[in-house]
Amino acid sequence: MMFDFHVHTYYSDDCNVSMENYILPAIEKGLKGICFTDHIDIEYPNDDVKFQLDYTKYMKEIKNLKVKYKDKLEILSGIEFGMQPHILETDKSFFQDKQFDYILGSIHTASKKELYDGDFLQNKSEHQGIIDYFDDLIFCVKNFKCFNNLSHIDAISRYISKGSFEASKYIDYIEKALRIVIQEGKGIELNTSGRRYGLSFFHPEPSILKLYRDLGGEVITLGSDSHNPSTLAYGFSEAKDILLNCGFKYYTVFRSGKPEFIKL
Ligand SMILES: [Zn+2]
Ligand SMILES: [Zn+2]
Repeated sequence: MMFDFHVHTYYSDDCNVSMENYILPAIEKGLKGICFTDHIDIEYPNDDVKFQLDYTKYMKEIKNLKVKYKDKLEILSGIEFGMQPHILETDKSFFQDKQFDYILGSIHTASKKELYDGDFLQNKSEHQGIIDYFDDLIFCVKNFKCFNNLSHIDAISRYISKGSFEASKYIDYIEKALRIVIQEGKGIELNTSGRRYGLSFFHPEPSILKLYRDLGGEVITLGSDSHNPSTLAYGFSEAKDILLNCGFKYYTVFRSGKPEFIKL
């Protein structure tokens, strides 16, 4: 019985599925619970997308669903918060009056440019783009206190020439980020969406997962990053095997920001 801790709904600008549309498929797939993690990306560098959230409406809908399905599925409130170095102060005020079960910290930009549309590579080599991405990532992991787990660390591999990302080339950056995550008492996620983007692995790839474990990392959530009910819990049985192979004994769920460990 597992939990999917990365699910998008019509509260995300890149998704049009209602929250309730996920409930039955989640139960049918044998999930014990799901955590909705819609996007908030403050100052996202593409005016066509608004990654903002009506907090009151969002929480109200989650609360209603919690009551309606309380004996069938545990429903948790989360967000995927887009971190950028220059919004550090905004972040502090944003979370003052809000409470979530779980906050995923994500990097969807590099040097204030979008990853998704490849803008971050304007006038620079892929290598430089990747370095800029990791510089932002390390700054944010070090300075943002708001999030529980860091999401898809190596998602940058989706936005450069297919199959060309070599984690070993950037391992110093990755290790630095992971060490901070651990020191801060935070965690990472195993995001199974990598395959859907045509990659041969989940995020992060096994070598990074193994490194995280070897450094002492224990906190890890499982998330499909679904934007559609058909991909809920995508690849979870394989993900479980990967975690066991990397030396993890538990995966993590969060309630009111507190981790709870569940045996794999
Ligand atoms: Zn993301
Ligand atoms: Zn996501």
